[in-house]
Amino acid sequence: MKKILVTGGAGFVGSHLCERLLKEGNEVICLDNYFTGSKENIVHLLDNPYFELVRHDVTEPYMGEVDEIYNLACPASPVHYQHNPIKTIKTSVMGAINMLGLAKRVNAKILQASTSEVYGDPLVHPQPESYWGHVNPIGIRSCYDEGKRCAETLFMDYHNQNGVKIKIIRIFNTYGPNMNPEDGRVVSNFIVQALKGEDITIFGDGSQTRSFQYVDDLVEGMVRMMNSRDEFLGPVNIGNPVEFTMLELAELVIKLTNSSSKIIYLPLPQDDPTQRKPVIELAFKELNCWQPKTHLEEGLIKTISYFKKVI
Ligand code: NAD
Ligand code: UDP
Repeated sequence: MKKILVTGGAGFVGSHLCERLLKEGNEVICLDNYFTGSKENIVHLLDNPYFELVRHDVTEPYMGEVDEIYNLACPASPVHYQHNPIKTIKTSVMGAINMLGLAKRVNAKILQASTSEVYGDPLVHPQPESYWGHVNPIGIRSCYDEGKRCAETLFMDYHNQNGVKIKIIRIFNTYGPNMNPEDGRVVSNFIVQALKGEDITIFGDGSQTRSFQYVDDLVEGMVRMMNSRDEFLGPVNIGNPVEFTMLELAELVIKLTNSSSKIIYLPLPQDDPTQRKPVIELAFKELNCWQPKTHLEEGLIKTISYFKKVI
């Protein structure tokens, strides 16, 4: 039985990961400050004696004996990470330093939940891991993008300088049950709007693209990455390479919810990436033929039934 720390474990992705790790027979410590996460996401795990919930902010050091750390603590929705940008970058950078310090002290393996945002508004399409990105260092998304880029640097430096066992994954847009209805990201926004019969808010003309991954596929990739051969550090893209425009997504959500909502067009936020699609050959090669299994329509149906219950 491994003792595993999941920071940000009460969030959308973290809650699925905690559940999966417990199912595999591990002991899980879930650490969260509940900024965007919620106890609701993990309340069903509280009866499990091998699950421990700790209210803690990763900008402060944390002490504990663990074998593995999944570092997920960080708001991921643009609305939330832009709410307090200084706190966001502190969470990424100081959180990484604190968790890497812990990994170093107790000789734990540590995985960083990095992001496709390290590629910024990419000039190379689709994005392989070798692409260094096109990121505005002083824009409204910079607190997140540069915080995550700096965290990747710290992970590499702790590995090179101190021999810490690290793994870095770059997650592309992921959706599924346990997203907060108020999260502000596009999939949850469109579904909640469609279910409530409100206008569907497309930012810009809806021609920008994203590639959407269902959360189960991500969790499978994360666990495989943690268990991959020691020499493989990443970064590795974990995402679904099927690309959609936001207009296509809106139309699909309206169809699947049988909604009477109308599409409206609002201004495109500053620095909003125009295109995004992962190259996943490295993940396939290194992570035992990992590839996403869930098609968008299938994942949306599951996510819609979740939101029907919670809103
Ligand atoms: P989320 O907002 O649902 O979860 C983040 C969790 O971290 C929340 O429970 C929040 O309360 C917690 N948290 C935030 N700041 C904290 C702090 N200072 N101390 C302790 N806990 C803190 O987002 P998510 O989608 O579950 O994302 C999880 C991780 O995956 C994040 O690091 C995110 O950057 C990364 N990621 C997610 C996606 C995606 O599409 N879901 C894409 C790329 C990267
Ligand atoms: N978006 C939108 N309507 C919304 C929310 C988002 O059109 O209500 C667009 C947003 O401008 C971006 C895309 O959807 O182009 C994905 O946004 P999200 O916030 O989900 O994640 P991002 O990939 O931008 O971090």
